[in-house]
Amino acid sequence: MAEVALRGVGKVYPDGTRAVTDLNLDIADGEFLVLVGPSGCGKTTALRMLAGLEEISEGEIAIGERVVNRVPARDRDVAMVFQSYALYPHLSVRDNIGFGLSLRKVPKAEIRREVDRAAEILGLTEYLDKKPRNLSGGQRQRVAMGRAIVRQPQAFLMDEPLSNLDAKLRVQMRAEIARIQRDLGVTTVYVTHDQTEAMTLGDRVAVMKKGVLQQVAPPQELYDRPANLFVAGFIGSPAMNLLQGSLAGDEGAARLTVGGQTLELPASVLADRPALRGYFGKDLVVGIRPEDMEDADLAAADGGGTLTSTADLVEAMGSDVLVHFNVQAAQVVTDDTRELARDAGTDVLGALEGAHTDLVARFSPRTTV
Ligand code: ATP
Repeated sequence: MAEVALRGVGKVYPDGTRAVTDLNLDIADGEFLVLVGPSGCGKTTALRMLAGLEEISEGEIAIGERVVNRVPARDRDVAMVFQSYALYPHLSVRDNIGFGLSLRKVPKAEIRREVDRAAEILGLTEYLDKKPRNLSGGQRQRVAMGRAIVRQPQAFLMDEPLSNLDAKLRVQMRAEIARIQRDLGVTTVYVTHDQTEAMTLGDRVAVMKKGVLQQVAPPQELYDRPANLFVAGFIGSPAMNLLQGSLAGDEGAARLTVGGQTLELPASVLADRPALRGYFGKDLVVGIRPEDMEDADLAAADGGGTLTSTADLVEAMGSDVLVHFNVQAAQVVTDDTRELARDAGTDVLGALEGAHTDLVARFSPRTTV
């Protein structure tokens, strides 16, 4: 196990495409770091540079104490788990898992012991003699994990390892990966485009956009304190409500105008964010999480401002009900109508659609302005 560091790392492909720019990340020994971002943001390139599968154009990569810029992939002592699993179809599960050790001429008895240990961890013991084609997707994924585990590498590098699984299995394997990583304590860098996966797995999450790191922080901090609009919109499902507005105010108080409606900002919000005074008289975007938007009838009077709007779509999703409102052409989503749904049954959901509702925008510490 080891810490992993990227310092000023950049990548320009031979055709001139710049995939990664000045990437700086320090990943602690035993940490689970998730690289997340939309398709094409450079996360796979970053991981492949760490693995040694792609040359770096600028900067420095260190694994443990060692700078590995010129160290070939096979000597970097990291184990990569791919989306495709990359299993050998003609080999049994046992031989697939032990393949890397055989290549390194590890004694047979030791390979057997290591494979048995990994199979035990992964619940694969009864499948060791089968061929990959006779396994389910989830089991194949485990075999790929097994191959990484037996190598006892300094770090695991995982590239969308769950994306070939169906939704239910993905959730199950996600929990499994979290458990295995915690038990083994191996430094892990995990790439995904799925923000839910990132938030549930990562000790810290690094958000990338167009090759540039936007923010790296523990999941809760990303959620509560996104560094910019991109992170605010990308992290969280349903997404944060981002409302275009303008701010007016004086020393003691501030008013936010959104879609022709005015919200009084509590003094605490202003006190919490002194920089806001600089925006008096200017346009800005206010970000409010769906769970901070409440139906006025249900909301506790806790200093929120009220927006009146019309519900134009209601989505019942079992435990949550999402109500979409149209405020100045922006979709506002609240998921705090559970009680309403429970109290009144499903009829009220239909009635909600098209109804005028007072929404309370609660200005919590995580309101982003
Ligand atoms: P995805 O989630 O779709 O895999 P990603 O975030 O992993 O995307 P990368 O695969 O790292 O993104 O690609 C980053 C950028 O580099 C993209 O613009 C991509 O088109 C480009 N790119 C990737 N591989 C090459 C290559 N071999 N040659 C030229 N450009 C490339």
